[in-house]
Amino acid sequence: MKEKDTKQTPAASSENGGVRTQTVEHTTATEAPTSPPEVPQVERRNPNAPPVPPARERRKYKVSETPPPPPPPPKLNDYEPIIGKAAIDELHFLARHLRGKTVKMVNSTAVGGGVAEILNRLIPLMNELEVPTKWEVITGGNDFFEITKGFHNALHGGEYNVTKEILDLFQMYNEQNRQRMEFAEDLFVIHDPQPVGLIRSKRDRGRWVWRCHIDLSNPHAEVWNFLRPFVEQYDAAIFSSPAFTRQLAIPQYLFYPCIDPLSEKNKTMEETFVQKVCEDFGIDRTRPVLTQISRFDRLKDPVGVIQAYKLAKKYVDCQLVLAGGGATDDPEGAVVLAEVMEAAGDDPDVIILNLPPWSALEINALQQASNIVIQKSLKEGFGLTVTEALWKGKPTIAGAVGGIPTQVIHKLTGILVHSVEGCAYQIRYLLTHPEFAQQLGKNGHEHVKENFLMTTNVRRWLVLFQILLGVVKPARPS
Ligand code: UDP
Repeated sequence: MKEKDTKQTPAASSENGGVRTQTVEHTTATEAPTSPPEVPQVERRNPNAPPVPPARERRKYKVSETPPPPPPPPKLNDYEPIIGKAAIDELHFLARHLRGKTVKMVNSTAVGGGVAEILNRLIPLMNELEVPTKWEVITGGNDFFEITKGFHNALHGGEYNVTKEILDLFQMYNEQNRQRMEFAEDLFVIHDPQPVGLIRSKRDRGRWVWRCHIDLSNPHAEVWNFLRPFVEQYDAAIFSSPAFTRQLAIPQYLFYPCIDPLSEKNKTMEETFVQKVCEDFGIDRTRPVLTQISRFDRLKDPVGVIQAYKLAKKYVDCQLVLAGGGATDDPEGAVVLAEVMEAAGDDPDVIILNLPPWSALEINALQQASNIVIQKSLKEGFGLTVTEALWKGKPTIAGAVGGIPTQVIHKLTGILVHSVEGCAYQIRYLLTHPEFAQQLGKNGHEHVKENFLMTTNVRRWLVLFQILLGVVKPARPS
């Protein structure tokens, strides 16, 4: 079935928020243009480049076989070159009002997953700001984590057979953790549903926040009806997107996910390293590079990306890099990878990389080396790969789903697409209008700097803590 589409107008003739835009003929994406608007002569291949073997043979890259030790967490001042001294001073100023207050954050895993990644950076920064913050992880048997995984999928709309035994076990493990832990702090932040039952330790002093990182827009009714009475005992709930929330009897706040600009995935890197990674992977940097970094998952539409690349390639020279992971230990990932290989055929300009989970530096280098980053998702959470690409100033073409439109403001910070043809059209447009593409990248970088960095997240926590402790009052519309 063909995907739904909307009109694609790559650029309009106006000065828009500092973006210099250009007039082009108005077309719809389903009517892919038959001749390019103004195609410059693009060299098909560098005549001096060595012959490139087909995609199937080019997967012997050199990522280390074991995870490297994690680098030490950055200090607040390390962020100064990125966000400026005034923003660092602001954090110290906000934190001053919280001196003497203590915080405990609780989640269900110390490693793996986005929540642990964020806490690994957030906790040291809060402590450096002299807001003593502890991080504790709940424990449980395999039976508990099987239940919480079932809950997780059910809250995302999946099927789940709820029994009394399951609900009792969930409460039993929460109760065990509650008995084991102490709750002497002023503020408690409980992440996600697994430890939600700790709220039973709430006393008069101390404010409790439930930080929900998952999309609750379409939850399994029985699971949500079970969890909701716990959630409504909190003083506030935080969601990652307005679309992910439920109606609740407590105040709700919006905290966007964030990236750390100093992490291995996002830090600026030596050009020589970027070049080496490209050479190892057989990427020719003398020609345009399009990249999609994503798990091999149909909802990321990697086959659609290949189709868009093939359509665009009729008019503009380019290579496509599809880098993902998880295909080794996830049976569905392996099937999707096979479909991707099939769709790529023997095209030597399609480079497919199945990377191990500790490839942050390589992913960073691939994003840096790209002329355009694509994230053609059909369904998405927030879409951190988009945040990463925008942060690197890359012109980004992405599906208008999930949290992507919050990040990609169409024709201002990137391009939103709804179909293979629309994606192809925009690839071709951006490759033939490099100034416009560059401006999108600049705007995207600023948008991330303002809204989706770890330091923005720290600021939000400090302000929320002030509100919850009554240090400041939330602004009310007059
Ligand atoms: N990622 C990775 N290796 C891969 C594919 C993705 O490290 O092979 C990273 C990617 O850089 C991003 C995260 O995993 O930081 C994916 O987050 P996103 O929100 O884009 O998608 P999700 O996989 O959570 O649906």
